[in-house]
Amino acid sequence: MQKSFIEVSQDSHFPIQNLPYGVFQLKKGSVPHIGTAIGDYILDLTMLEERGLFLLTALGAERVFSERTLNAFMSKGKEVRMQIRTVLQTILSEDNPLLRDDEELRTASLVKMEDVQMLLPVEIGDYTDFYSSREHATNVGIMFRGKDNALMPNWLHLPVAYHGRASSVVVSGTDIHRPKGQLKPADSDKPVFGPCKLLDFELETGYFISSGNKLGEPIPIDKAYEHIFGMVLINDWSARDIQTWEYVPLGPFLAKNFATSISPWVVTMEALEPFKTKGPEQEPEPLPYLQSKGDWAYDINLDVFIKTEKLSEPFKISGSNFKYMYWNILQQLAHHTITGCNMRTGDLLGSGTISGPTPDSYGSMLELTWRGEKPIRLPDGEERKFIQDGDEVIMSGYCKGDGYRVGFGDVRGRVLPGL
Ligand code: MN
Repeated sequence: MQKSFIEVSQDSHFPIQNLPYGVFQLKKGSVPHIGTAIGDYILDLTMLEERGLFLLTALGAERVFSERTLNAFMSKGKEVRMQIRTVLQTILSEDNPLLRDDEELRTASLVKMEDVQMLLPVEIGDYTDFYSSREHATNVGIMFRGKDNALMPNWLHLPVAYHGRASSVVVSGTDIHRPKGQLKPADSDKPVFGPCKLLDFELETGYFISSGNKLGEPIPIDKAYEHIFGMVLINDWSARDIQTWEYVPLGPFLAKNFATSISPWVVTMEALEPFKTKGPEQEPEPLPYLQSKGDWAYDINLDVFIKTEKLSEPFKISGSNFKYMYWNILQQLAHHTITGCNMRTGDLLGSGTISGPTPDSYGSMLELTWRGEKPIRLPDGEERKFIQDGDEVIMSGYCKGDGYRVGFGDVRGRVLPGL
């Protein structure tokens, strides 16, 4: 097994097999730099690029890591990404002296994670959120329409989605203000205005587009993978009471546009490759433009924790897995562009809430508490039906390798009262 000269614990999310990309800034103040995570450290790629360590890759003298986002690097596509990954794995390797034995270079390029603040890694042009978990769609369908009409007639034929709001995508650690809006109490025939009472999270992953396509030219499913850079965790905050009143007939609008949190490290498709696995059987067979060959689900453990103001430790309230997704990422991208819709570098495509088959694997409070009917009991005796002011929601995700983990770190956000 490949190892780094930097000590990485077995349960660290960031061994040499991972090497995700992110943008960081020293807490004491500095210009944002691009880095990769290794154990408890960040390797400063802006610095390494300045020192000429990537000159022999296809990048040559081009500076993609002197930017304040990953977009320039992402736009280069898979070949450059693979070459940079090889350089990084080589210089971080336990038997390569270049960085290991050069104290000056080590001091200049390695930063402790605890000394930095992570920033939004990508300039996101467009954000789309799918609805690709059958378990989630079925649960929500049962609650809103009853058991017999749980899945809409289109659901098994196409990956349903809506166009979300990119401007309010924030990096992990950003506080969220409770939104206000129109709510219609069940016993009233008129809406009232006020703070959302049913604030929820959605456990999701998302992927970033590396290189896009020309307007008018769909991305065929067998080319879709080449357009995907890597993945992050997403908490797609949702105002359920606003959603219930507004969503017919065009889907969510204000219920979803106030905040979406993402994890700061973008885990590349290369790092996730060993964790590909078989997805759910698709019946009926999708139309030809949605048929992907091979296994395109990923075995990524996903956990949700809640930390209230009274709790001393975060408490786990759900454990799901990305492999439960019915529609895979290739099908989502092929479907999204089949009209000729153009993707651009940095676009974010969310999976939709990822619920597993059992009640302890549901990906939202709406499902975990079954619309508030079964409150979650916390260790200190508190109860939660939905998210309250002062609560922090923490999501974590990782793949289990043999003796190592490839992880995403976490995405966290605390809810503050509405402004
Ligand atoms: Mn969502």
